[in-house]
Amino acid sequence: RQRLLSGMQPSADSLHLGNYLGALVNWVRMQDEYEAIYFVPDMHAITVDYDPAELATRTRVTAAQYIAGGIDVDKCTLFVQSHVPEHAELAWVLNCITGFGEASRMTQFKDKTQKHGSDVASVGLFAYPVLMAADILLYRPNGVPVGEDQRQHLELARNLAQRFNYRFGETFVVPEPVIQKEGAKIYDLQLPTAKMSKSAESPAGLINILDNPKQAAKKIKSAVTDAGTEIRFDRETKPGISNLLTIYASLSGKSVEQLVAEYEGRMYGHLKVDLAELVVETLTPIQQRAHGLLDDPAELDRLLARGAEKARGIAAATLADVYDKVGFLRPG
Ligand code: ATP
Ligand code: MG
Repeated sequence: RQRLLSGMQPSADSLHLGNYLGALVNWVRMQDEYEAIYFVPDMHAITVDYDPAELATRTRVTAAQYIAGGIDVDKCTLFVQSHVPEHAELAWVLNCITGFGEASRMTQFKDKTQKHGSDVASVGLFAYPVLMAADILLYRPNGVPVGEDQRQHLELARNLAQRFNYRFGETFVVPEPVIQKEGAKIYDLQLPTAKMSKSAESPAGLINILDNPKQAAKKIKSAVTDAGTEIRFDRETKPGISNLLTIYASLSGKSVEQLVAEYEGRMYGHLKVDLAELVVETLTPIQQRAHGLLDDPAELDRLLARGAEKARGIAAATLADVYDKVGFLRPG
């Protein structure tokens, strides 16, 4: 089986519906097809302003949501990034073969510093794509599922792998981007032209996986809709209804066309009521499983420790190879 790697940052109290439908649902499917490695990138989470008092809890809660959403620790490898020190160690070596200008061209860094100012941006944020390259290359995966926003970072990882192999000898697999099967893109419920994001302008635009189901239902029912009354998919003139149709289709497994046919002649309100119910039906069991896991943090930590050990089995071998190749004296 081909090996594949992916992760989502523990940078909020909960994953949101976009993370769930755009990423986690695909991960669950892929763990059957691939030798999947999923991790919680807590080292990436400290590259921006964050609260140290919350990080450990958010890391656990994120891992619990992976499992509650269907990640099976017996089918795949699930671990926390900082539990596998090889990530930081390889990142250092890769930093030393990354051009300063090359790193400066990463558009995500440029966007983030434009927003927040380069004085508050850390060197860690600057080097984030190099750590990401280390995350990937350590496991020599064939594939990495990436959204549009990570495409440039994956390209850097590929360049670094090729450069290292050329300079020091064949070491890394050059990873291919895995294009997800129309990975659902979910938009903000209040501003359906912007993607649903944890940094949403209004909390009403964002459904968190761990939201109280009643609140989640209310957010669906008060989602902005569009002029007119007809239920059809048109991102340009009906972004609100199109977003609700996308969510509905992803949660129900029906196609958008099928839903449009079903709702012909009916009103926006009907669609919202049914979708609200479906959201509650989906979230309730996930929340129960997540809370069950979080009620016994020691057991969850044991699962994560087992995952870290599995991951280190791969990562330590790659790093030893790298340290040899770059000429480090190995401890006797
Ligand atoms: P931020 O707003 O800080 O960028 P985020 O909510 O986009 O955070 P990420 O950690 O950047 O979350 O993304 C984790 C995963 O979730 C990625 O695979 C990303 O493509 C996916 N994802 C995030 N938001 C959405 C969305 N609105 N629709 C579909 N997929 C999404
Ligand atoms: Mg993002």
